[in-house]
Amino acid sequence: MQDLKRMLQDIHAEVALTRRYIKRDKLDDAVLAAMRKVPRHAFVDAEMRRYAYDNGPLPIGHGQTISQPYIVALMTDLARPTRESRVLEVGTGCGYQTAVLAELAAEVYSIEIVPPLAELAAERLRRLGYQNVHLRTGDGYHGWPEHAPFDAILVTAAAPTVPPPLIEQLAAGGRLVIPVGEPAFGQELRLLEEGTDGELETHDILPVAFVPLTGGH
Ligand code: SAH
Repeated sequence: MQDLKRMLQDIHAEVALTRRYIKRDKLDDAVLAAMRKVPRHAFVDAEMRRYAYDNGPLPIGHGQTISQPYIVALMTDLARPTRESRVLEVGTGCGYQTAVLAELAAEVYSIEIVPPLAELAAERLRRLGYQNVHLRTGDGYHGWPEHAPFDAILVTAAAPTVPPPLIEQLAAGGRLVIPVGEPAFGQELRLLEEGTDGELETHDILPVAFVPLTGGH
């Protein structure tokens, strides 16, 4: 499909533009293959469909947005899911990032705080036939302890600091990707990964702009 080809080219171009930040010249082939496979138009409302393959965020209702394809690809690349991985996503939104993860991981657990968004995402993911996706409505700040530990955790809304419950639910060798910061002061896409000494290492990857993580915490 022409639109998908353009989206992949735009992702490549933005990877090239940001290579000094992200310290790589290209994203993982498996991630790009997953991006090629998931129909982004199926995750947005009819009136947004013609913009579905633009490399930009789109409104999904309730003041929320589907992230830009480049950011979805980059976060997935940083999380490094494999066929054996159990992945937690906080902020299902429209379910697009969930679907990309489901193409790569064994099981994907995703939590959304806005009930109508969670219901719509569930319907879309069911219709597309994803069977390794488990959704829950609630505050993802607390993670999903019943299904922990997770090999990768992705947070798709910005928090002032990394929620401690998510760090606790990270498996040994696990990777946590999260935008951290306050809207007015700028946010950084942060990667937490276990270093060789077993301690968590923090890498700030790229300045980003995400909707805030809401909830009662
Ligand atoms: N991955 C999504 C991005 C959606 S934007 C997509 O591809 O569409 C971030 C989402 O996080 C929004 O849907 C918002 O409602 C949700 N969110 C914000 N705070 C949350 C919280 N505490 N727990 C779970 N979801 C939250």
